[in-house]
Amino acid sequence: MIELKTTAEIVQMKDACKIAAGALQAAGEAVKPGVSTEYINKVAEDFIIRHGAVPTFKGYNGFPAASCISVNDTIIHGIPSKTQIIQPGDIVSVDVGATFKGYVGDNAATFAAGEISPEAQRLCDTTRESLYEGIAAAVAGGRIGDIGSTIQRYCEERGYSVVREFTGHGCGRVMHEDPSVPNFGTPGRGVRLLPGMTIAIEPMINMGGAGIRQLPDGWTIKTRDGKLSAHFEHTIAITSNGPVILTTA
Ligand code: MG
Repeated sequence: MIELKTTAEIVQMKDACKIAAGALQAAGEAVKPGVSTEYINKVAEDFIIRHGAVPTFKGYNGFPAASCISVNDTIIHGIPSKTQIIQPGDIVSVDVGATFKGYVGDNAATFAAGEISPEAQRLCDTTRESLYEGIAAAVAGGRIGDIGSTIQRYCEERGYSVVREFTGHGCGRVMHEDPSVPNFGTPGRGVRLLPGMTIAIEPMINMGGAGIRQLPDGWTIKTRDGKLSAHFEHTIAITSNGPVILTTA
C-alpha cells in the first residue's frame, strides 16, 4: 500500500533526509586512498548520531553497519571492513540512511578516491545525471514507468547497462515502502504518481553487462563481469508543484 504524506509530514520527513544528506556528504569527504571502508562508515555513523538520529541501515535485516560501502565492481550492499583499504583510482559508492522523529531519509553517491580514469568519471557522471533525469520525470499524474524509462534510456544511450534485480522504493515511516521504483520501464506504465508520494530513486548503473552476483556474505552485490558500477540516490517528494529533493543539506 502506498502511503501518501501530507505537506506537514513531508516537512517533518525533510529533517531525517537532511541528516542522511549530511552523513553522505561527510562520508564522501572521508573517501581518500589509504582509509578503510570501516572508517568511512564511522564518519557517516558519527554524523547521524551527533544529530540525534538513528542509523537506519544498522540491524536492518541484520545488516551490520550504518552504511553500505561498495567499491569499484561492487554495485551495492558492500559491508564496511577494517581490512578493505581504499586505493588511488577507486570509485566508492556510499549508501546511508537516517531515521529521525519517525521518518527515514535514504541517499547514496559514488565518490572518487584521488584521480580516477576518464572512463570511471564518465560512468559516475552519467549515473548522477540519470538520477536527476529520473527525478525530473517524477511528476504527479505521470506513471512510475516514466521515471525508470527515462533513467534506462539516458544510461543505455551512453553505452551502460541498468541493474534489474534492485530498484528504488517508497520511503517514509520505514525505509522500504511501496511502490517499487525500477530504473527501467515503459513510459506511461505502472503505478500512478500522486502528490504526497515520497520515493527513493536510485540508479545502479554498470559499465559492462547488467548481470550481478552475490557474495557468500549474503549482502555484497557485484557485477558479474567484474566491471565498474556506480550508484546515486535521492529521496524525493512528489508534489503538485513538481518533484522536490528531500535529501539535501
Ligand atoms: Mg534506497
